[in-house]
Amino acid sequence: MSLKDKVALVTGSASGIGEQCARKMAAEGAAVVIADLNLANAQKVADDIERNGGKAIAVAMDVTSEEAVEAGIAETVSRLGGIDVLVSNAGIQIVNRIEDYAFSDWKKMLAIHLDGAFLTTKAAIKHMYASGKGGSVIYMGSVHSHEASQLKSAYVTAKHGLLGLARVLAKEGGPRGVRANVVCPGFVRTPLVEKQIPEQAKELGITEEQVVRNVMLKETVDGEFTTVADVADTVAFLAGFESNALTGQSIVVSHGWFMQ
Ligand code: NAD
Repeated sequence: MSLKDKVALVTGSASGIGEQCARKMAAEGAAVVIADLNLANAQKVADDIERNGGKAIAVAMDVTSEEAVEAGIAETVSRLGGIDVLVSNAGIQIVNRIEDYAFSDWKKMLAIHLDGAFLTTKAAIKHMYASGKGGSVIYMGSVHSHEASQLKSAYVTAKHGLLGLARVLAKEGGPRGVRANVVCPGFVRTPLVEKQIPEQAKELGITEEQVVRNVMLKETVDGEFTTVADVADTVAFLAGFESNALTGQSIVVSHGWFMQ
């Protein structure tokens, strides 16, 4: 139980990758906070973790709202006694060519991915510093933190930006025991990706099968999707890694799509 007695908050954990990260860390002994825009689904995940013997609470949080983020972190600290691990994971995808990309969509993407990462970090590290115990901040990046793909201007920009935020936090937090790293998955078959397959097929004028085979998995070593478990295992490893030896890094979990 490498995360025994730790408190871990995961944003966007009512679904997909975030949900599995929370489930994995709960299995490793952490008390987990399912923080999501969708409170009903977050509560279902928390209840299920508790039914399986873990400790979990659900918290409503829109990561783009400073007020909501501050309130969610304050609720976490008051109900669970502190916060040791933050996984900034909430995210959406909007695909379009730059010339057709609505400015409102661009701003929405940057707000969820970058404002969300900044606001949750700012709120959580205050408690990590004050406790004297430090902590671990993990950002959900992507292969798109390192590579570009057409149709994804805002996503690629935001995911590259997370590397910068993690590196600054690694420097500021290091002396106070706060580590910051980015996990960079390849394509994982979550609702976020299922939605993109028909959209990309339409935009690129190819079949859905061609999107999967020739766009999403073309550069992998084995033609396989990354799984939520692959990503969650990496997150749990970073959450439990106690020294500054691993900070300011990005770990790519992508079946060899991108090799650094
Ligand atoms: P998902 O759609 O399954 O889950 C995303 C969750 O985020 C949902 O529960 C949603 O309610 C929540 N959310 C959305 N906006 C929010 C907001 N403003 N505040 C709080 N919660 C909000 O998606 P996923 O595939 O699990 O993606 C999770 C993260 O992983 C994202 O940051 C995504 O960019 C990243 N990622 C996904 C893949 C992939 O292939 N699926 C690959 C690399 C990185």
